[in-house]
Parts: sequence; structure tokens; C-alpha cells
Amino acid sequence: MGSERFADLGVHHDRLQRAQEEMAREGVDVLVVGPSPDLRYLIGYAGHVSERMNLLVLPRTGDPAYVVPVLEAPRLAGLRELLGVHPWEETQTPAEVVAGVVGDVAGKTVAVGDQLWSVFLLALQEAMPDARWVSATPTLRPLRMVKDGREIELMREGARRTDDAWEEFIAAPLAGQTENEALDRLLALTHGRGLGPGFGSCGSGPNSASPHHETSDRVIQPGDAVVFDWGGTLEGYFSDVTRTIHVGEPSEEFRRVYDVVLRANQAALDAVAPGVPCEAIDEAARALIGEEGYGAAFIHRVGHGLGLDVHEEPYLVSGNATPLLAGMVFSDEPGIYLQGRFGVRVEDAVLCTDTGGERLNEATRELSIVG
Ligand code: ZN
Ligand code: ZN
Ligand code: ZN
Repeated sequence: MGSERFADLGVHHDRLQRAQEEMAREGVDVLVVGPSPDLRYLIGYAGHVSERMNLLVLPRTGDPAYVVPVLEAPRLAGLRELLGVHPWEETQTPAEVVAGVVGDVAGKTVAVGDQLWSVFLLALQEAMPDARWVSATPTLRPLRMVKDGREIELMREGARRTDDAWEEFIAAPLAGQTENEALDRLLALTHGRGLGPGFGSCGSGPNSASPHHETSDRVIQPGDAVVFDWGGTLEGYFSDVTRTIHVGEPSEEFRRVYDVVLRANQAALDAVAPGVPCEAIDEAARALIGEEGYGAAFIHRVGHGLGLDVHEEPYLVSGNATPLLAGMVFSDEPGIYLQGRFGVRVEDAVLCTDTGGERLNEATRELSIVG
């Protein structure tokens, strides 16, 4: 990431304060967050992932602190107005430095970010044996789930560029390329629009029936359905889109399945409104697919929250009664997978607004037939 820019200290000051309010609600005395999207969300710095412990220590009241190897302390120069910096020397034990910053923990509850390496957690637990250790997820979930205006603008723009890459991508033929070659071209078009590294997969022919297929050197042929699921990042925020296209004239059954998936995608979108439980969005798509006789072929939840992580809360899955709130962004991605034959998935990112769901992705959803 090179030299750090910290333009929005005010935003991060507010987020840290809101995290402290959630800590009070959850009965958490100290929050510990290592390099992760949670860290980036809170302080605008994602941390440096390595064997050298570096992490944020946020007490329920008072000032945040960052414990960092002395050689990485210069990266935090721009953050000194936001938090205290506590460098540790190569010969020190960083967990002891953290314990010193935290102070007396007897009878206190320490919440730990869910992406902190276990090697660090084990060292912290040894240095602070009297603390009670819990997950930070309940504390940070309410903050991360609801996007503010700036986050929504970034995600809208990321989605727009990802869609734009798709429109250029499908203007060229696919037959004769391997899945890897086709995916490389799509990702190059995506990155060419200024998006950072994200993820991607391409499944062709029978491989399209495997939702998390590992992109291979299979050569794409006439008669194939091809599923592309990919995204890039804009200032850390992911786009996440899936489109299914067909090489050459599709069968009647493919057309029918495609139409069912498209209508399920729309049914899920139509169900979105503040106050609606997450599981009701899944059910809207599932009921439609079930009525069309493909219920057993829709083998995953309809969607997941999207933001600084590509999969984050809220999860749109049966059993999750969490009510939707305006500002949540999540995927709407029903699919039908006919093993050994073909699969179809259509995925958009959706924003929950005060009045209902709004698609962030507008890449062509009509069935595209390519050469
Ligand atoms: Zn997935
Ligand atoms: Zn996806
Ligand atoms: Zn997704």
C-alpha cells in the first residue's frame, strides 16, 4: 500500500467513539483489533500482516492505542492525532507491551477481532491470564453492516466500473479460450478501470454447475454455459457480480432455467425494505425457484453483506431474523446448478434504502449469447 494517506481522521474518530458506545452496550472493557478490514474501518489503516504483532487497543473509555514494531512505527505518523503509538523493540515481547498498555484486566472482558491470528491471541491470553476473552463481532457488526454516505458512493462507483468492464468483455467471443484466459481478460478490464485486486472465478460447461469452481484450463466451447463471478476493490470496498452467458445457441432448458434465476433475482430485490428480516429475502428467491421445480438445485444462501470484506454481515440466509436497515449493502445471487450439465447464477449488489432495494449493478442481465 506504500505511504499512507489519512484524509478522514474525523470520520475515524467518530467510528472509534461509536465502537466505544457498542462496547458499553456489550459489556466489553477492551477491544483488540489486528490487521484486518475491521482495523481499516476503524482507523483508516489496514495494518501490516506479518509475524510481528501489531494491533489496535481500544479501551471502553479513554484514548485508543496502537502497538507496533518500531520499524513500522513511521507508517503511523499520520495517525498520531487519532491514537497513541506504542512501538516495541525487536528484543521485547509484544504481548507484554500490549498487557502494559491495557493495564489491570482482572475481571475485565477483552473482545478480539475475528481475523486476529491465533498465534497472537494465544500470546495475549498468556500475558493477560485474568481477562475474559470474547469475540468482537457483536461489537463491530452494527457499525460495519450499515454503510455511510461515503462508503455507499465508493461501492456505487466500484459497481459501475465492474459493470462497465463486463460490457466490454462480452463484446468479444469466448470459444477457444480457457477459463483462466477468459477470467484473466475480464480481471484485466476490471483493473484497467482503476479497481484494485479483488477475486474471480470462471466455470464453463459442466464446471458452471459448481458454485465455487476453481477456474481451470478447460477450453470454452460452443454449447457451454459460462458463469463469471468476480469483483475488484475501490479504497478497500469490494464489488461482487456474477453473470452467466451462453456460447452459441442455448437449449430450451437453459433458457428456462436462466429465466427462473432472473425472476428469483428480481423477487429477492422486490422483497428488500427496512425492517424485513434477512431470511425473508432468501425465502423470496427460494419460493420462486421451488415453485418452478428447481428447489433442490439452489444449494446456497441468496446473499451476503458486502463492504471491506467480500463476505460479511448480514447474511441473507434462513435462520437469520436480523432486520434489514437502510444503508446495508448485500448481494442478491440466486443460482440453479444441474450437476454434470450446467449452472446459472445472476448476482448484483443491492443497497437497502428507506424505500426499498436499489441495485448497484446494472450490467446486462438479459441472456447474452456470445461466439
Ligand atoms: Zn460465493
Ligand atoms: Zn460473487
Ligand atoms: Zn457474492
